[in-house]
Amino acid sequence: MAQLESKVPAGPLADKWRKHKTEIKLVNPANKRKYEVIVVGAGLAGSSAAATLAELGYKVKNFVFHDSPRRAHSIAAQGGINAAKNYQNDGDSVHRLFYDTLKGGDYRAREANVHRLAEVSVNIIDQCAAQGVPFAREYGGLLANRSFGGAQVSRTFYARGQTGQQLLLGAYSALSRMVGAGGVELHTNSEMLDLVVVDGHAKGILVRDLITGAITRHSADAVVLATGGYGNVFNLSTYARGSNATAIWRAYKRGACLANPCYTQIHPT
Ligand SMILES: Cc1cc2nc3c(=O)[nH]c(=O)nc-3n(C[C@H](O)[C@H](O)[C@H](O)COP(=O)(O)OP(=O)(O)OC[C@H]3O[C@@H](n4cnc5c(N)ncnc54)[C@H](O)[C@@H]3O)c2cc1C
Repeated sequence: MAQLESKVPAGPLADKWRKHKTEIKLVNPANKRKYEVIVVGAGLAGSSAAATLAELGYKVKNFVFHDSPRRAHSIAAQGGINAAKNYQNDGDSVHRLFYDTLKGGDYRAREANVHRLAEVSVNIIDQCAAQGVPFAREYGGLLANRSFGGAQVSRTFYARGQTGQQLLLGAYSALSRMVGAGGVELHTNSEMLDLVVVDGHAKGILVRDLITGAITRHSADAVVLATGGYGNVFNLSTYARGSNATAIWRAYKRGACLANPCYTQIHPT
């Protein structure tokens, strides 16, 4: 039976990740190009990860079973992103966003990671705005906020009812820039069939070309699985048909831990 090693850093809750980031070993900029990273998936998670890793200097291969990264299910997200910027001066803070998120997750989420999410929420909005995401603005030009999901503060940044679509276009253009610059090798219509594990570490994948049927193998120093939700394990779901659990199931069969599979958001929209 697999042993769960969450790798949550030590120390007081609010300092865990900040402290870890200052103590972690870094890779010299000149050496980054010696490392290859495979990213599977090109939704908001995968395309941002691939673009950012390439921007840092790593060699990235990005695989996606859609015909374009823009087909990922992230396109369907509507409401917006929460960030503890406290632009409304209505009492918001990193701690409040942390607590609201934890409560919204029925107190089941891993606290340290939720705290990290609340900390970086502030930067994520700036990064997306810099990518050109047209967030809603007040008439004076400042970013607008709305209160969302029962929160007592207005902290949700949005782009009408199509936040996911606009975010994905932003992430996709960052990814395309790195494809053009040679930092990312993009493989569309490519399904991950299996994960290659060496000494307990994910070091590669097997891929089927969905047009030709050809099966190829790819190795790397690390593999990032950003393959989205798995709502289609349920009969009724508003998820895209592609949200089909194929990648995480294959990783699970190779020893990855899978927790709370019942904890799936079935969108009632
Ligand atoms: C209707 C709706 C509204 C939402 N509203 C909000 C909101 O207001 N705020 C919010 O924060 N979140 C919202 N969400 C949730 C949020 O959009 C998702 O959690 C997020 O977009 C998921 O991004 P992702 O990159 O992880 O996955 P996805 O966008 O699903 O991307 C998965 C990628 O993995 C690839 N893939 C999967 N399996 C394989 C395989 N075997 N081989 C190769 N490639 C594979 C796919 O091709 C795709 O590129 C909403 C979601 C929906 C559906």
